[in-house]
Amino acid sequence: MNLVFIGKQGVGKGTYAQRLISEFKIPQLSTGDLLRAEIKSGSGLGKKLEAIMNSGALVSDEIVSEMLEKRLQQADAQNGFILDGYPRTENQAKILDELAEKMHKRIDIVLDFVAPDKVLLQRLTGRRQCKQCGAIYHVKNMPSKAEGICDKCGGQLYQRDDDKEEAIKKRFEAFEKQTKPVLAFYKKQKKLVEIDASGEVEKIFSEVIKALKSRKLIEKLFEV
Ligand code: AMP
Repeated sequence: MNLVFIGKQGVGKGTYAQRLISEFKIPQLSTGDLLRAEIKSGSGLGKKLEAIMNSGALVSDEIVSEMLEKRLQQADAQNGFILDGYPRTENQAKILDELAEKMHKRIDIVLDFVAPDKVLLQRLTGRRQCKQCGAIYHVKNMPSKAEGICDKCGGQLYQRDDDKEEAIKKRFEAFEKQTKPVLAFYKKQKKLVEIDASGEVEKIFSEVIKALKSRKLIEKLFEV
């Protein structure tokens, strides 16, 4: 079961991916996380990436696609995966089809999570991430047990520069401009399913499951 999650930042893709990971044991591959790992490594490339990402702009298709290709080849991605944050451009969607074909795989379904900008802005400015393990929290909706400290590893929580209002607005603009063609691309392939992501987590998750069932993907996963 190879899934793609699409949606503006803050729409909850990470949360729903986490739920699928624990229920179906397939990994979430987030290009944002891969890029942040490169930054953390302190490499020359990481320094360049940091400047681009902090400005709210997109990293080049070549760099992101190369990182993703390496990640797709790892053992844990062989029975299925959830792509989060990729493809973000039509060119990346084409690259992904090529990568999948090379690996004798296909993208089964593309879930487009949709919620109003106002709701997303509120969610994003409250988002906190662990410096050490990357876990995501929210000061209101999903707080850590001890303020500012990660439940999972005890690391320090911080607000990402790209979660500040100015950068968020730039990212929304980039999304509108560059990701809309990705939706059209998958609509044409009849793989696109829209999920209303403005309500309760449980309701949204059951919509996700309904979408997977409608394509017989859950049965497919248990056959593996
Ligand atoms: P995310 O964690 O998915 O919100 O990504 C954070 C930042 O990483 C984005 O604002 C981009 O600068 C960069 N990024 C992540 N995924 C991609 C991608 N597929 N293409 C280009 N840039 C990306």
